[in-house]
Amino acid sequence: MSSKFNITPLEQWSGVKTKPYIVTGPCSVEGEEQVFDTVRQLIENAGDKIHLIRGGIWKPRTRPNSFEGVGEIGLPWLKSAGKEVGLPVTVEVANPEHVEAALKAEIDVLWIGARTTVSPFAVQEIADSLKGVDIPVLVKNPVNPDLELWLGAIERLNAVGIKKLGAIHRGFSSYEKTVYRNPPMWEIPIELRRRYPEIPIIVDPSHMGGSRDMIYMLAQQGMDMGFDGLMIESHRNPDKAWSDAKQQVTPQRLAEILNALIVRQPKITTDELQPLRDLRARVDRIDDYIIELLSERMGISEQIGSLKKVNHLAIHQSERWAYIVKRALEKGRTGGLTEEFLLKLFQQIHNESIRHQSNVMEKE
Ligand code: PEP
Ligand code: MN
Repeated sequence: MSSKFNITPLEQWSGVKTKPYIVTGPCSVEGEEQVFDTVRQLIENAGDKIHLIRGGIWKPRTRPNSFEGVGEIGLPWLKSAGKEVGLPVTVEVANPEHVEAALKAEIDVLWIGARTTVSPFAVQEIADSLKGVDIPVLVKNPVNPDLELWLGAIERLNAVGIKKLGAIHRGFSSYEKTVYRNPPMWEIPIELRRRYPEIPIIVDPSHMGGSRDMIYMLAQQGMDMGFDGLMIESHRNPDKAWSDAKQQVTPQRLAEILNALIVRQPKITTDELQPLRDLRARVDRIDDYIIELLSERMGISEQIGSLKKVNHLAIHQSERWAYIVKRALEKGRTGGLTEEFLLKLFQQIHNESIRHQSNVMEKE
């Protein structure tokens, strides 16, 4: 099957052969001295592990009157700070004017922010302004959990000839209150990887967690899933940062995080791993059973739907639902499953079951 993407591998354009590919630097460029000092400290502490320096120049803020970035004036500061330590630099661009200014300042890599990826018009304008330009572009996932929108943005850039492309997974906005600023919803980048393994995936634990305590855990999870790199915000004095103060780490802490990460082998090739293959085969068989059982359950729901219709009963019966949940939680607990998982699982099963019942009731 030929892919719709034509992508130059990350190792090829970055020259970085070993995982993880590390992008770091402050959320925002605040001043010349701040960038130089932060970059110097990053190199002193973790120089051999860093590959690309980030710095926001134009900041997309939820509310007006927050710090909106220093603007164009900061581009040469960032570029020279990178030059001083021999590293490429990257900035977020949200429109063709940003692209033009960034190219003029010889910024090495561009990234598209989550609030821009949601808008096909904005992405298309950026793509059009990049026609004929050979520059790597990293695309953050859209704010909302929509893989197609994410892929669409990458596709628009690829269509104008940008081949050095990567995806940045920074978590997704959710209405529910969670411990994360942007819950990771790992299933989405995993599906991206399954469908297009050629697209490199860089995990951004800073914007996912929204808190510096969560960065190590999320970065390790990203590595455990075999993703390619990390984008972590680092500032010389995080508490005093003009944006995202809670989630930035000092260069010292960044080095600790990077040193502590365990990066596992991405591909398994040797035959010593036969036991792993056997276990995977068992998992696949169990997944098949789960699907077969769920289909059977939905068939029964349809029969229940017919009976409810004849007897003029409502589809949703709250006592029955409460009973199903109670039973599942009790049984699941003894099997070592968490309440959160069971609740989500049964909510999904229940929704699907209601869909089947409604279909029957509408039809007959
Ligand atoms: C950022 O990287 O500083 C940023 C604004 O990120 P996001 O687009 O993921 O919110
Ligand atoms: Mn930020």
